[in-house]
Amino acid sequence: MSRPERSGVLPDPISPQQALAELQAGNRRFVTGAPRHPNQDAGHRAAVADGQHPFAVVVGCSDSRLAAEIIFDRGLGDLFVVRTAGHTLGAEVLGSVEYAVTVLRTPLVVVLGHDSCGAVQAARTAAATGTAPGGHLRAVVDGVLPSLRRAEAAGVVDIDGIVDIHIAQTVEAMLGSSAALAAEVDAGRCAVVGMSYRLTAGEVRTVAEAAADGPSATPVDVPAVSAA
Ligand SMILES: [Zn+2]
Repeated sequence: MSRPERSGVLPDPISPQQALAELQAGNRRFVTGAPRHPNQDAGHRAAVADGQHPFAVVVGCSDSRLAAEIIFDRGLGDLFVVRTAGHTLGAEVLGSVEYAVTVLRTPLVVVLGHDSCGAVQAARTAAATGTAPGGHLRAVVDGVLPSLRRAEAAGVVDIDGIVDIHIAQTVEAMLGSSAALAAEVDAGRCAVVGMSYRLTAGEVRTVAEAAADGPSATPVDVPAVSAA
């Protein structure tokens, strides 16, 4: 049975660089108010029912203004999305990423943070007052604390500067915590990129990168995800 003609379908497989270019192109369409909304029609829905081949994993903050398919102008079957407050990592997050890169062969992982992140602000408040939040919210705050320590050591005090450091920290912690992901990156089959999104402008910019031919990411102060 032949598949219907589909707009926005990418060649398979694609390289990490092609996947990144596709995301950046989609974000430009979104920013300029000219989205194409690819792969959101009924024909495409039926076409991808057989199986998924997402070209990027997005590990993003849960913030309601950070919907991945909207800000990258993509549709069904394109993005494998994992979201937690402050893109904090835990075993389930890492397992989901490993599923995408090793089983689905997704060539790109994006850590997506944003300015004015509430999780980062909550962690900063907790650190400043010495008061940990109750319930499971504490796990979110604890996940951000290593980034706060790193920002403090670097003399960065503004919230958006701290956010950028937290994005880079998440990229490095993910690679340091997942041997499977690190192996895919070392083999050149996958890249990990950190991006920061601006809520007002709608644009993303790259703030961290880990690829086989680039500088290797160094695991720093990796959270104890197995105990989360
Ligand atoms: Zn956030």
